[in-house]
Amino acid sequence: MENSILKETEAKTVRENEDNILEVRGLKKYFPIRGGFFNTVVGQVKAIDGVSFSIKRGSTMGLVGESGCGKTTTGRTILRLSGEKTAGDVLFNGKEVYNIPKSELNELRTKMQIIFQDPFSSLSPRLPVGEIIGEAVKEHHLVPKEEYEDYIDRIMDNCGLQPFHKGRYPHEFSGGQRQRICIARALALNPEFVVCDEPVSALDVSIQAQIINLLKDLQEKYKLTYLFISHDLSVVEHIADTVGVMYLGNLVEFGNTEDIFANPLHPYTKALFSAIPIPDPEAKMNRIILEGSIPSPANPPEGCKFHTRCSQCMEICKSKVPEEKDMGNGHKVCCHLYDDGAVKN
Ligand code: SF4
Repeated sequence: MENSILKETEAKTVRENEDNILEVRGLKKYFPIRGGFFNTVVGQVKAIDGVSFSIKRGSTMGLVGESGCGKTTTGRTILRLSGEKTAGDVLFNGKEVYNIPKSELNELRTKMQIIFQDPFSSLSPRLPVGEIIGEAVKEHHLVPKEEYEDYIDRIMDNCGLQPFHKGRYPHEFSGGQRQRICIARALALNPEFVVCDEPVSALDVSIQAQIINLLKDLQEKYKLTYLFISHDLSVVEHIADTVGVMYLGNLVEFGNTEDIFANPLHPYTKALFSAIPIPDPEAKMNRIILEGSIPSPANPPEGCKFHTRCSQCMEICKSKVPEEKDMGNGHKVCCHLYDDGAVKN
């Protein structure tokens, strides 16, 4: 009897792991600070300091936080774009991304793509759009030569671009169209997972909605999984299924979008969310203003890293790092105010 329960639990864990396209466990990325006469390492910038989360296949995880909290570095480290990681695991489809042999790395690169914040600087000004989108398709021999032109036309069409614009250059397009080109370039490689790094923050509000809707349509059509990095919480609420809140290199809160927006628990999340504008002129905003600025990741505070700015700081917060508490329904928070499943008395 006991054995069958054990087997059932193991099978459930395997099924859950198969459901997750990406698992990040205890990921750390430190950048050395060099100085002195011999240019030796004199310190470390702890850009990511032990981040863990997983993303279900076909879903979107939003990653939010102030500038400099480590969101972009997390995205880039997952994709192996920031050199070697310092510690932890990044499992993509169950395989450790940093242990994949060189022969399989090319295939992995096609499966994991990124869309950058600034569409203009991420596009080569010397190449026509058709070549920008198709460059990597040719490099990876993704489609036979005779089907290549049709393939690029189809991708452009799916991303709301006119195929006859293939011969034009990036400067001939508007900001929104340039972001569509970046999306088409990523999509042309038939990826499974896309890191969207602030993909709409450089665009006008009206264009933002178009790009967000395009990303959602493409996700449904191609069964894509997104890690959506943004400081715009309204956009994240609209697109994400789960949300992670980062502060100074750590994930301080994680949960379903509905739970996080309806019931933020961490004092930092509460302060962030209190700044979301309410579209009602009668409504009163209870804005929580955070004191001071974000501390340096090269010299983070002891204990809870947020204690220097937290209005609910207790003595324990100054010396003990809070553990992750499970508040139910996958809602997790790192704060001494909570016990598993409850607020402390
Ligand atoms: Fe504030 Fe303490 Fe919670 Fe940190 S652990 S967020 S300092 S109450």
